[in-house]
Amino acid sequence: MPSVLIVEDEKTIVDMLAFNLKRDGFETAAAYDGPTGLDMALSGQYDLVLLDVMLPGMDGFEILRRLREKSDVPVIMVTAREEERDKILGLETGADDYVTKPFSVKELSARVKANMRRTEGTVRADMGDKVSFGPFVVDRGLHTVNKNGTELELTQREYDILTYFLSLPVRVVSREELMEKVWGFDYYGDLRAVDVAMRRLREKLEDDPAEPQFILTKRGQGYYLKR
Ligand code: CA
Repeated sequence: MPSVLIVEDEKTIVDMLAFNLKRDGFETAAAYDGPTGLDMALSGQYDLVLLDVMLPGMDGFEILRRLREKSDVPVIMVTAREEERDKILGLETGADDYVTKPFSVKELSARVKANMRRTEGTVRADMGDKVSFGPFVVDRGLHTVNKNGTELELTQREYDILTYFLSLPVRVVSREELMEKVWGFDYYGDLRAVDVAMRRLREKLEDDPAEPQFILTKRGQGYYLKR
């Protein structure tokens, strides 16, 4: 059974989330303060982390920053405010998604499922084990991406984006298509999450992200991978 770690200091919210996630087929565990949440998230026992921002001991952004040094577990930030900078800061720090309080249980469940599914390998491109382009070798058997023989540290989502492009003939892919195919079908998230992910991927792949040679933007249409 897939398991969700809930890091949240308000017990009534934890109980409500746990009740609904269990009903939807997830196991749940809870941490009620920041340091405990970080330790539990780092244990590697959970398939997804729901992370509140305002927590005793350590806030959600700091937890996320430290977690991302070691783990690619999907993280959904739970922000209390509708503030843009919180959403962007969360995505920049490496969150996969966010929900804003108050959220509907139905919406939250849909997001948990969408973000969980991608780690199970939603994107199954039909191709051989190894694909090369430019200085890159993508090995789908080993799940690695090498550049000039050095392995790049991509997150699962970045890897999924790259292999999605490689599964297609060279063409422009819209942000909506990326969101649908890589993030999940019933995902109704923010398209800026796509832009943030593409920028991070570009920073990892390109020699000069300001003058990209491989991940190119077609203004007003989307992205394409040159190979
Ligand atoms: Ca809180």
